[in-house]
Amino acid sequence: MTTTNTKAEKISFKDGKIFVPSKVIIPFIEGDGTGPDIWRATKKVLDAAIKIAYKDEKEIEWVEVLAGQKAFDSTKDWLPQDTINKVKDLKIAIKGPLTTPTGGGIRSLNVALRQIFDLYACVRPITYFEGISSPVKTPEKVNLVIFRENVEDVYSGIEFKKDSKEATKVIDLLKTFGHEVRNGSGIGIKPISEFCSKRLVRKAIQYAIKNKRPVVTLVHKGNIMKFTEGAFCEWGYEVAKNEFSDFIVTEEAISKKYNGKAPVGKIIVNDRIADNMFQQLLIRSSEYSVIATTNLNGDYLSDACAAQVGGLGIAPGANIGDEIAIFEATHGTAPKYANQDKVNPGSMILSGVMMLDYLGWDEASKLITKAFAKTVKQKRVTYDLERQMTGATLLKTSQFADTIIENMN
Ligand code: NAP
Repeated sequence: MTTTNTKAEKISFKDGKIFVPSKVIIPFIEGDGTGPDIWRATKKVLDAAIKIAYKDEKEIEWVEVLAGQKAFDSTKDWLPQDTINKVKDLKIAIKGPLTTPTGGGIRSLNVALRQIFDLYACVRPITYFEGISSPVKTPEKVNLVIFRENVEDVYSGIEFKKDSKEATKVIDLLKTFGHEVRNGSGIGIKPISEFCSKRLVRKAIQYAIKNKRPVVTLVHKGNIMKFTEGAFCEWGYEVAKNEFSDFIVTEEAISKKYNGKAPVGKIIVNDRIADNMFQQLLIRSSEYSVIATTNLNGDYLSDACAAQVGGLGIAPGANIGDEIAIFEATHGTAPKYANQDKVNPGSMILSGVMMLDYLGWDEASKLITKAFAKTVKQKRVTYDLERQMTGATLLKTSQFADTIIENMN
């Protein structure tokens, strides 16, 4: 079948299953600062991979939607309703980094997008590409996917300034529960719900089953925050045991029932306290493969893990809900390099790879991943990687994209 003259269609869902037309409409937010540079490179690479993998059988029709500075300049709105409507209707989007407006209004556009569309899982794969300089001795042992809860915890935005009437009221209320909080304290609230914790852990385990990952680790700080972080861990085990008993075995059961040896083919579910996890990931990184964790832990852990494999410039990410998903570069707008065709488009390109996997267009995603790895191994890279490698060839953003395409053929 050829789709050249076929009209592009929307993604749809039926009974939780995604249906992707062969010519599909996908909105993009190019982003601020260096966003347009990395978006141009990303689009080129994605389109080329789809063309090589499927000839004319599959195609993306890109439609621009506005957010950030570009939206504000033309509509006086940082996040126009039209963008929200289109993403809601078209189900997925890919975005570059956005400037966080300062001085009131929406605190962070990224946080706003996650909340508006209930994108409850922030998914960050951490993979090493041979040739990239790393601060650790064996970065190739890091091969992880982090599932970070994305809509609650201290990110829920419930904060009261010191001495405000709300903060004073909360302090007074806490007094009635027998808790003394020093007057003049700022107050932040950390809600962690059973519903949000369970759906996040469910997604992580489903991913591990689908992708044959051997371990799912619940990361929490439950020794200190028992009813939030500790409860996250308990609810996580409940999901694992009640919903996936045919697929998983807990670390506890391995030692109590199976003489310390996990039954073949079962996914091990264990948990680690967050501070311990930071050192575990440095010294025993190969023992972990999928992490499910609360919002703040996940924020810290994903950057620390990304640093182990060469930094944020090539770390991809996706914010995924039940039907809507937004794939995004994980770094910021790096405004001092804007319009210089200089920065690394790797983060956004690899987020595009995640998007292709989500669509089920695996042949195209594999082509990009292989060509990306080959390009880095050839030491044909942008300034950020070039300065860490000996004997590397310095490429511009657009040249890096062209080299990846060359390496696909
Ligand atoms: P940033 O934009 O991530 O830049 C910090 C540094 O990281 C850059 O100076 C550069 O380091 C390096 N870097 C970032 N992107 C790179 C790339 N593609 N290739 C190579 N190196 C890259 O962080 P920021 O300066 O703190 O934030 C700037 C703006 O971005 C702020 O408005 C912030 O709110 C926003 N932001 C948005 C997002 C998002 O949309 N997801 C995320 C974070 C921040 P060197 O100069 O050392 O080479």
